[in-house]
Amino acid sequence: MLTTDDALCRRIADFTEAISADEARYCVNTCRRCPLLDACRRATDDMVERRIGPRGIVQAGIWWGIDGKPRQEPRTCKRGHLVDGHNAIPKADGRTQCRTCQNLFQRAKSHGRTTAQQWAIEQGDAA
Ligand SMILES: [Zn+2]
Repeated sequence: MLTTDDALCRRIADFTEAISADEARYCVNTCRRCPLLDACRRATDDMVERRIGPRGIVQAGIWWGIDGKPRQEPRTCKRGHLVDGHNAIPKADGRTQCRTCQNLFQRAKSHGRTTAQQWAIEQGDAA
């Protein structure tokens, strides 16, 4: 008999904290191999029906946007950051902006650099 302890997401420490598209894809792929997927889907469908569905996380093999709608593919910015959940800044026109890139822009400005220069420097540091 399977219990929630058998859920694969329990074995990933920061499962619901995905901040990059790669992390989100990894969580979705893990979720889809879970022995509890069917039960999780039923529970998740019930939550969505009651309007308390998942937002900005992976659940039941699906990436759920911050608006509570399932996404085929995690939304990303041109630099590959996940633009959803806490990394999405809602704009007046209904679109969203990448918070990581917004912060990058601010750091670039404070150093008198272009965003591209700052990005290149930070990528170099990370490597
Ligand atoms: Zn970005």
